[in-house]
Amino acid sequence: MTETFRQLCQSVRFCADGPSASSSEDRSREAVEYAARMRSEGLRVTQSLTPDLHAAVQKVSEYLHVGGDPEVLVVSDPTPHACAPIFGRSHQPYVVLSSGIVELMSAAELQFVLGHELGHLGLGHLPTALRKQTGSEYEELVEMSLQRNGEISADRIGMIATRSVYTCAAVMVKLISGLSSRYLQMDVEAFLDQLRRPPGARDHQWELLMTHPSLPLRLRALICFGQSQIYGQLAGTGGGRRSLQEVNAEVQAMLDDLGDGALPHMEAKRVDLAVAWVGASMVLQDGVVTSDEHGVLGSLIGDELTAKVLRFGGDLGIAAVDEKVAAALAELSLSSPRVQRRLAKAFRTFADHLGVQPEQTSVWQIAPEWLRSDPLRQ
Ligand SMILES: [Zn+2]
Repeated sequence: MTETFRQLCQSVRFCADGPSASSSEDRSREAVEYAARMRSEGLRVTQSLTPDLHAAVQKVSEYLHVGGDPEVLVVSDPTPHACAPIFGRSHQPYVVLSSGIVELMSAAELQFVLGHELGHLGLGHLPTALRKQTGSEYEELVEMSLQRNGEISADRIGMIATRSVYTCAAVMVKLISGLSSRYLQMDVEAFLDQLRRPPGARDHQWELLMTHPSLPLRLRALICFGQSQIYGQLAGTGGGRRSLQEVNAEVQAMLDDLGDGALPHMEAKRVDLAVAWVGASMVLQDGVVTSDEHGVLGSLIGDELTAKVLRFGGDLGIAAVDEKVAAALAELSLSSPRVQRRLAKAFRTFADHLGVQPEQTSVWQIAPEWLRSDPLRQ
């Protein structure tokens, strides 16, 4: 992989596609073993054996500046799927395609699939099977959400590899239905219309467990990306005039609204609780809770929660409260920068209202970097 390719991937990364909590190094042995198995079980794509496929690989490599053709293997499996196992930075990338996906897609559509998988490599994403099992159910859901955000980034690389949003649309329609061109006629609007939901049909828990955002949603995110300046530059298509920041904000709103279902609400509850523990710790700092302090806390987190956390602190002491703070912060370590900023702001607000220096509180001692940083200074 060239540095140019890695930079290309980074330059279009979706803002909410953060680094995974898992490290790629500790699981690399498994990935190497998997690669060896795939090599013995799959057919290697070459110019003489699979000329069309080989041409598609070359085009992708050229469009993305991968630096040399990646190794591509086709395994006999009617289910359409693809993957690009990661194993260290020094190795030449390789992609595994099932015969099902090769049969289903045209050569141009396979360029998207190849680009998407290489994108995961360039962005340093981990395949699902190699992701670390995280702690609580909530952390698990956040990790899944991060993974879905990663798909949004990888799709962008796929689109640059095929240079056509229509080709991407065809890929999504074929993937969702398993139907070949023989049965399909392209109607992007009708496909996107599947995203429309009856009022009240929100907060589906099953959406939180999906590894990928729904295919119509992925296409909508790509159409949005197609309007960006950077896409035009990288794909050489002229492209649109929107900044990536603007596009990211729209996609984020789209995902909040249609993709993550209940997660933002669950997250909001976690954040409220973290704010409450942080506030309680700061109020209990000197062992006395004045009615002023009680009032400040109440105005920020509500009377009911204030009573609850202060009772807990009164009974068990500030050390126990700080344990709650640490646990609440740990749960939010994978949250989006937006959420973390919200908490950092709350921390500063408490300090302001209570007239203490943030650095002198016990929360500061256990606070991760993101909580210590001043959101107003960024
Ligand atoms: Zn993917």
